Order: sequence, then C-alpha cells, then structure tokens
Amino acid sequence: MPRKMHSPRRKHVPQRTCIACRQAEGKRSLTRLVRTETGVEIDPSGKRAGRGAYIHPYRECWDSALRSNRIEQALRTKLSQDDRLRLAAYMDTLPSAVQDAPEDGPAEIGNSAPAN
Ligand SMILES: [Zn+2]
Repeated sequence: MPRKMHSPRRKHVPQRTCIACRQAEGKRSLTRLVRTETGVEIDPSGKRAGRGAYIHPYRECWDSALRSNRIEQALRTKLSQDDRLRLAAYMDTLPSAVQDAPEDGPAEIGNSAPAN
C-alpha cells in the first residue's frame, strides 16, 4: 500500500486532520478554531486570519482535545480560563458522535452577547 493515497485529481477537497482523533476529513466537516489576539475562538466561517486548528463538531473530540491540551499544542498558545469556559460552553451545544448526529450540524450557539 502506498503511504500517500491522494484523492483522484479531478475533485479537490482539502483535507484537514481533527486534532483530537487524528482522522482526516474534508475541511467542511470539521470546526475551525483560530488563535486571535484575544484568545482562542471558534471560526465557523473558516476564514479568519490566524493560526487555525480543526476538530470534529462532536463532544467526544472536544472533550478529549480540551483534556489533553491538544488545542494548546496545535495553536501553540495557552488557553486562558476564559477560553476554556467558552470552548466548554460550545462543547455543550455539540452532539455526541455516538448518537445519531443531526443532519444539519451542531446546534447554533444562540445570540452571544457582544464581548465588551
Ligand atoms: Zn475528531
């Protein structure tokens, strides 16, 4: 088996690796985290500038990434208490990978209050 199994050349789907479970997925199947000047944030558009990391929108992956400091490693930063709370709150809105995941993705975050 060749180590590098590249996808057929006509369809160009960028693959990203989940920082928690290390499975590669099309980047649209993963949630992007981005390091900003004010901390680590979720980047639903996937377009914000800054160092990014990808993770499955499943509770298990977030839980494991938060516990094992994979987010910190991937983003080469330290998570503040604030970051952790925000990420944990987001994790709570996510479906579990073992239940049947809703077709339309993770629950919406709701109307978040503007920061400052
Ligand atoms: Zn994962």
